[in-house]
Amino acid sequence: MAKVLCVLYDDPKDGYPTSYARDDIPTIESYPGGQTAPTPKAIDFTPGTLLGSVSGELGLRDFLESQGHTLVVTSDKDGENSVLDRELPDTDVVISQPFWPAYITAERMAKAPNLKLAITAGIGSDHVDLDAATKHGLTVAEVTYSNSISVAEHVVMMILGLVRNYLPSHQVVLDGGWDVADCVSRSYDLEGMHVGTVAAGRIGLAVLRRLAPFDVKLHYTDRHRLPESIERELNLTFHPDTASMVPHCDVVTVNAPLHPETEGLFGEDLLATMKRGTYLINTARAKIADRDAIDRALHSGRLAGYAGDVWYPQPAPADHPWRTMPHHGMTPHISGSSLSAQTRYAAGTREILESWLAGTPIRDEYLIVDGGRLAGAGAHSYSTR
Ligand code: NDP
Repeated sequence: MAKVLCVLYDDPKDGYPTSYARDDIPTIESYPGGQTAPTPKAIDFTPGTLLGSVSGELGLRDFLESQGHTLVVTSDKDGENSVLDRELPDTDVVISQPFWPAYITAERMAKAPNLKLAITAGIGSDHVDLDAATKHGLTVAEVTYSNSISVAEHVVMMILGLVRNYLPSHQVVLDGGWDVADCVSRSYDLEGMHVGTVAAGRIGLAVLRRLAPFDVKLHYTDRHRLPESIERELNLTFHPDTASMVPHCDVVTVNAPLHPETEGLFGEDLLATMKRGTYLINTARAKIADRDAIDRALHSGRLAGYAGDVWYPQPAPADHPWRTMPHHGMTPHISGSSLSAQTRYAAGTREILESWLAGTPIRDEYLIVDGGRLAGAGAHSYSTR
């Protein structure tokens, strides 16, 4: 029998919801490109309910306990003597979401001799030391595509929010004011601007597709070039690397995984090559940008705005400079955890568990590390040191 340790964010401050803003969510059966949405044998939760917090338990308890497995759910993941550290030594499977990441370091793996599977309920498994995972023979899997469109929608919202100066203008309303000139003195149209994405994978391409109707000039860079038909359809300009793309852009959005090639990419040197007043949106991973260089670029005006939802560490400390830097539109890490996305990644987590517990192969597109090496989606998009 397996012990499954699930690390989730806390319930809402007012307690686990008893009702919701909407009665249903659309059913998504497949994603662009044809990959099917998760196909577990069954689910024990109501789609559209809060599954990502401790009481939601990703809807896994009945499924696991009915087969005699043990499920431990906690939000206590950091610091000396955390529940995560106390429970890990005899855990077989650890599940965590990037929004509230259980950092599975080499030290933690060494203290968890039974650990065989780390599941990311969502996308982005950089909170697991992938080098160490390959050495420990750990399988790492994530629910590929489950929240890619969720993030793409958030990116588009943030681009428009920054360019049009939405959040400060909303604040004027909350403050009882009518200060039109204050609102519009930093407000522009997106139309005609040059927008570039670092990576055109599932999220990056979805962002490009959603922005095309705004009559912007679209740019991208990626390790693999998109099919010519897509480049033509969206009128894309390809650049061989980030450095050659960003000087052309008014807006840059980052949609690449965090791995050795991308860590620290948006540092002082790269920022210095960008047009004065560029907007930078990073919903990928915080460490792709240099924390203090971003803060300085907003103060100097090199960047006109920075938005995103990814921080390091998570949760971000109260004194993190990105909470107070000028012209930012940050949220906590939420873009990929809408109720719609939770429904898909909870179902995908169950699908992965069903396969693993039955000893049948996990879908190739969900695999990041398997059999001591990068595999599946991981082999395509990640690198190790
Ligand atoms: P995909 O794997 O579909 O796309 C990632 C793309 O990044 C691939 O096309 C890959 O290239 C490209 N890439 C990798 N390294 C580089 C590089 N050095 N330069 C340029 N491109 C590179 O993943 P998704 O689009 O679904 O997700 C992307 C990332 O977004 C995730 O890894 C995660 O970190 C983040 N994310 C954030 C969420 C949030 O809630 N904020 C939720 C979900 C994801 P290729 O494969 O062609 O080699």
